[in-house]
Amino acid sequence: MVAIFQEPLTAETVKEKARALGADLVGIADAAALNANPPDPAHPKRPMDISDHDADRVIVIAKRLSAGTTRLPAWDERHKFYNDELALTAIEATSLELVLWLEDRGYPALIVPPTHVDPLDYRGDARASLGPILSMPHAAVEAGLGTLGLNQMLLTPEYGPRVVVTAVLTSAPVECDSRMEEALCHGAECGRCLSACPGDVIRHFDRDWQACQDYRSPHGFHALADHIGRIIDEPDPAKKKAMLRSKDQFYLWQSILRGAGVVTGCRRCQDVCPVGADYARLADALAEIAEDTPEKRARLAEMRAAEAAGDMPESYRLAERWIGDLVKQANAAL
Ligand code: SF4
Ligand code: SF4
Repeated sequence: MVAIFQEPLTAETVKEKARALGADLVGIADAAALNANPPDPAHPKRPMDISDHDADRVIVIAKRLSAGTTRLPAWDERHKFYNDELALTAIEATSLELVLWLEDRGYPALIVPPTHVDPLDYRGDARASLGPILSMPHAAVEAGLGTLGLNQMLLTPEYGPRVVVTAVLTSAPVECDSRMEEALCHGAECGRCLSACPGDVIRHFDRDWQACQDYRSPHGFHALADHIGRIIDEPDPAKKKAMLRSKDQFYLWQSILRGAGVVTGCRRCQDVCPVGADYARLADALAEIAEDTPEKRARLAEMRAAEAAGDMPESYRLAERWIGDLVKQANAAL
């Protein structure tokens, strides 16, 4: 873009605009940091893979999830799926308005939605969990919005993990934010996300992403493929017809219609996390964790012992840049 058409911009002006358009949180990452530190170096997903021209900065914006739905304890509550889908739609609309505003000032820009996967990664296995084209939690950490938790979800000081996030790529030469150094997560000493996880998929600073998918996208493509497969395999025509009118089919249809239960789903780990200033208005409804078991408590005790001995798992070491320093965080709490 020819410089004469470009208005001078500051980071604060961009942030003010994003907030005026509906974002609750805004941070700006230097794309060079994301390019140099892909979360999975074997399959890097970087801003530079999306645009050669307009990706020097990654503006990460977040919208908070509603407290009323967070206070509903069931993981598969469809009110949550719908409300979260509306929050996602809202932050995507904010992103689009921000892109157009930047372009009016001479800086081409583009949105990276959190649900955008690379179709080239699809290998004909509907159950395989596909990663996003750019990891929003990692981009948010690079933009100074927070740090990652025990299951690698994004935690923010304001809303804990109860946010939806998108990114806007642009080359507007605005100042970048710095990463937080200290972990926001309290580690296995807390472990509430692990206790509440309905699929028991949370590991020590990691999670089984494929198993999580059955919950975080319960009516997603894998569920649709399984359902249609069962209908095709059913030899009895009357049962086949009944399956077409079943509750499973109804939920799949509703989900295709709105994306609720596909791009949104379980967030029980997000609900119960005590990180975030907003937790004060949630705690009374979320204190009890019905999904907790003696086996989960025993696993957390082992994790606590490992943390106390400084024997951190490989998953922590690989992601320490984004999880932050747990020791500093523990010392700060003393
Ligand atoms: S989204 Fe649900 S299944 Fe996945 S880690 Fe969180 S609580 Fe567990
Ligand atoms: S619930 Fe506890 S352990 Fe899990 S991410 Fe939040 S602070 Fe960390």
